[in-house]
Amino acid sequence: MFRSTTIKLTGVYLSIIMVISLFFSANLYTLAVRELEQGFKRQATVIEQVSPTDPFGDSNEILRQRDQAFRSAKTHIKEQLLVVNLVILAGGGVFSYLLARRTLRPIEEAHRAQKRFTADASHELRTPLTAMQTEIEVALRDPKLSKTEAKSLLQSNLEELAKLRQLSDGLLRLARLESHSLPKRRLVVANVVKAAIQANQTLANQNRIKLESQPGDELHVMADKASLIELLSILINNAIKYSPPNSTVGLSYQRHGKEVIIKVADEGIGISPLDLPRIFERFYRADQSRSKQQVTGYGLGLPIAKDLAEMHDGFITARSTLNKGSTFEVHLPLS
Ligand code: ADP
Repeated sequence: MFRSTTIKLTGVYLSIIMVISLFFSANLYTLAVRELEQGFKRQATVIEQVSPTDPFGDSNEILRQRDQAFRSAKTHIKEQLLVVNLVILAGGGVFSYLLARRTLRPIEEAHRAQKRFTADASHELRTPLTAMQTEIEVALRDPKLSKTEAKSLLQSNLEELAKLRQLSDGLLRLARLESHSLPKRRLVVANVVKAAIQANQTLANQNRIKLESQPGDELHVMADKASLIELLSILINNAIKYSPPNSTVGLSYQRHGKEVIIKVADEGIGISPLDLPRIFERFYRADQSRSKQQVTGYGLGLPIAKDLAEMHDGFITARSTLNKGSTFEVHLPLS
């Protein structure tokens, strides 16, 4: 699809170049011929003035040669312009092709990413659906299915449904982020951090994780409060998910030039240098075998966090040491 579009676009660019080139060539030719004509006319006048009494003698031969020279000069100009236009056609062709490739590259990349996203999402949706279908089919084929077995089947289906719900919520959130802008207000950073800690306190308690926050300066950002709490909650949630019990997750913030850096640091399993550059990709999940238990997730949390940071004109960075812990930093412009 992109190959034929590239060729079409190359054709359009090349046509534009050739129309301009031919237009200038035609004008150049007209101008050059006019100049030549005037030059030869002046010559003829001089010749006629020099030998007015002998219009059919030497001067006539000179005039004949002059006409011949005029014709051959015109042919020469035409040839030169033709060569120039052929060179422009060849060079312009290459240039137009490169320009067309360059123009289409971002669209092609976005298209490829979209296709990959759809394929990944379909794959993730298929897994729990297939599991549910198999379980139900096996149960239906069993004539001696007991009430306890039926209950356990329903329980398992419910778990799969919860995963599907989590996945669809993530997908919906990403889609909404692409089409929405956020209503921003001036907020006190400390209040946002406090609210994010409060929102995750129960989860931390359940996992026996200590949530700690360090007080910082009075700093302000222009942000949508709910979105910023959501962003920090994703990081806190991950920090809890990937940390052993009785460890600490620390939140702090500080001014750094014209921005504020909000840090979420854990003492968890860490991320390998191989995985680290890819964790913000949609559906990317690092090897889960090192987790304390099978941790549920679809690799959509960090991409959502990244989108949210970018919608606040900020960005997120991550540092990590395996088996020591990870630190995520949210950089936001100060208000
Ligand atoms: P998930 O739902 O899998 O947690 P995320 O997009 O939030 O998806 O994170 C992507 C991956 O990055 C996770 O699967 C995990 O491997 C890794 N990761 C994220 N945060 C942490 C952390 N605090 N400690 C260790 N690994 C992390």
